[in-house]
Amino acid sequence: MGRNVGRRTKIVATIGPASSSPSVLDELIDAGMDVARVGLAHGTPEQHATVIRSIRGAAAERSVAILADLPGPKIRTGPFPPEGAEMCNGETVKLVAGDGPSTAVQLEVDFPGALDALTAGSTVGLGDGAMVLEVEDCWSGGATATVVRGGVARGRPGLQVPSQALAVSVPTKADLRLLEGCLAEGVDMVAMSFVRNAEEVCALVEAAGSDPPMVLAKVETAEAVEELDSILAVADGVMVARGDLGIRLPLEDVPHVQKHIIRTSIAAGRPVITATQMLESMVTAPTPTRAEVSDVANAVFDGTDAVMLSAETAVGVDPANVVRTMARVVERAEREADYTQWGGKLGKLRRQAQVPTPLRITDAVSHAAWQAAASVDAAAIVCCSRSGGTARAIARFRPVAPVLTVSPSPRTVRQLALTWGVEAFMGTTHDNTDEIVWYAVESLVKQGALTSDDVVVILAGDPHDPEPATDVLRIVRVR
Ligand code: PEP
Repeated sequence: MGRNVGRRTKIVATIGPASSSPSVLDELIDAGMDVARVGLAHGTPEQHATVIRSIRGAAAERSVAILADLPGPKIRTGPFPPEGAEMCNGETVKLVAGDGPSTAVQLEVDFPGALDALTAGSTVGLGDGAMVLEVEDCWSGGATATVVRGGVARGRPGLQVPSQALAVSVPTKADLRLLEGCLAEGVDMVAMSFVRNAEEVCALVEAAGSDPPMVLAKVETAEAVEELDSILAVADGVMVARGDLGIRLPLEDVPHVQKHIIRTSIAAGRPVITATQMLESMVTAPTPTRAEVSDVANAVFDGTDAVMLSAETAVGVDPANVVRTMARVVERAEREADYTQWGGKLGKLRRQAQVPTPLRITDAVSHAAWQAAASVDAAAIVCCSRSGGTARAIARFRPVAPVLTVSPSPRTVRQLALTWGVEAFMGTTHDNTDEIVWYAVESLVKQGALTSDDVVVILAGDPHDPEPATDVLRIVRVR
């Protein structure tokens, strides 16, 4: 009884110049990376393909999911001089359309139309919000603004404008071209930036073809927060993209919006990633700040499925050390976290009313499994799951018992690397539920995940059901 439960909150690490070599990727996986995120905003499709193949190569038999992040309408300024340009508080800056060089007094903006939607009083962020400008005056194709938070601008920093100014829906044409490359490389999940509504998520799912990867919506606009329920009805998961969210909403709203998104996503059975600046100081330092450690622990207490590292692992000085630190902080927080009440809370946070019948069946049976596992003090909850849906349904309850999932699909096994508390194993295809259950238990015993006398709660469904649901619940004593 009481199988040793490992870390349950998953770690997403962004791969970049500091981490794309096979040896560092190997170290990251050893350190605890569950999902490797490849940002597609930089580099060529050939470079993305090389990184994706290196991740697969380094993972070998280990279940690491690959998440490709589509950039959406990213707006950049023209290049600043190599030594950078100091933007001083109170100075006036002109914003004009174009791709030529930028200076401290004139920014060239490469996104047609973005400037037209600015109005006097709009706030514009530069370099992921490190610098902030306030618009004073606008005309067709240009604006003047005052620097309200200065700093040194280098390279081609991103420019964050109010989301209404992004008068283009996602996925953009450039996103769709990038998506083709991702599909060709067989990525496990794609994330869409700057989603504002469910229709945009559906457009991406449709573009991804008949066997799409998981589609995650990055919640980083005020509209997406408003539309969260309808987005969760069609997306396979979400990311709390706190960087852009903190530019588009008042900063002080971000922790509360984070909690709301996490609670709502868990209730909907969708994995949720908490992202950005989690251990930011470790881009250059060997240890995090106390505030960062608290931030990670609090995301664990919120119940997030995964915590994400961005620049820390993409360009930081010691990516593997960051992942090891993240894993340590998460494991310690999980020893304090009280998940026993999640199932009760879900009663108040049911999925949206009119869900289809198979989902209602899955909800009811997984709820019963959660209660049964607690009643018999189960050594594990075993999910027999082709698509991963059963495992995600039971993970909503944040059960105390480990969730061991057996799937005949290697892609499902990798995709479950994102879901809280789930450990996934390869299985084989069988013709009926009895065989599926029997062989799942046998394979978990063979792999050392279960032993004789373990009492396990098993969830499965009919492999031939045209509308698949989790409709089988068994309690088995392993012999
Ligand atoms: C964010 O804005 O927090 C985020 C994760 O998006 P990106 O890193 O693509 O800017």
